[in-house]
Amino acid sequence: MERLQKIIAQAGIASRRKAEVLITEGRVSVNGEVVRELGVKVSNHDSVEVDGVPIYKEEPVYFLFFKPKGVITANSDDKGRKVVLDYFSHVKARIFPVGRLDWDTTGALILTNDGDFANKMTHPKHEIEKEYVAKVKGIATKENLKPLVYGVKIDGRKTAKARYEIISVDMAKGTSIVSLTIHEGRNHQVKKMFEAVGLPVQKLKRERIGNLTLKGLRHGEYRTLSKKEISQLL
Ligand code: URA
Repeated sequence: MERLQKIIAQAGIASRRKAEVLITEGRVSVNGEVVRELGVKVSNHDSVEVDGVPIYKEEPVYFLFFKPKGVITANSDDKGRKVVLDYFSHVKARIFPVGRLDWDTTGALILTNDGDFANKMTHPKHEIEKEYVAKVKGIATKENLKPLVYGVKIDGRKTAKARYEIISVDMAKGTSIVSLTIHEGRNHQVKKMFEAVGLPVQKLKRERIGNLTLKGLRHGEYRTLSKKEISQLL
């Protein structure tokens, strides 16, 4: 049994808060009866409708995927390019990616059919750590990376606090490997942050989301996440 607003949010129709509004507005019915109170619990056997349209209920599933380079974070592409969902063709659940990685970025990506979970994961309030490892052009030093810790302005707005670690510096090639841990998810954020300190990114990998690492996965592989792993994330 789950709360009605959670079931509506999981189906991707609205956030939990908006689902509560839908209920109090009398737009939700359970087994044909309008429900206006919050807190009503429903089971998988109950039929739930919003504005007279049955909601599609599926068991929530969660996957951790090692996205390879050259794959678009989308469900489909009108130009026929490779998308992450191509790797899940035999998964029947209607899953979608949580957040996105750029076409040329590799690494950890979560996919789920749970709209409520996806909303929470991408909400800055939850401050879920994401750790990236970047190969950058230039010699990384404490001095040039320091602004990343307190925030740099990208697209007119300062980034939140971040942590970095210099992994290695190749003086001969003039490149460095740096790890950067952030908890926001703005568009091209990591590339823009390094760009802001004069170290353009040549290669980018997301190593970790919360406590989920890529351990045991190779490029293009995925595994299911346990209930425990999901509850530890949020
Ligand atoms: N930041 C980026 O710039 N690119 C990504 O793919 C992810 C984070």
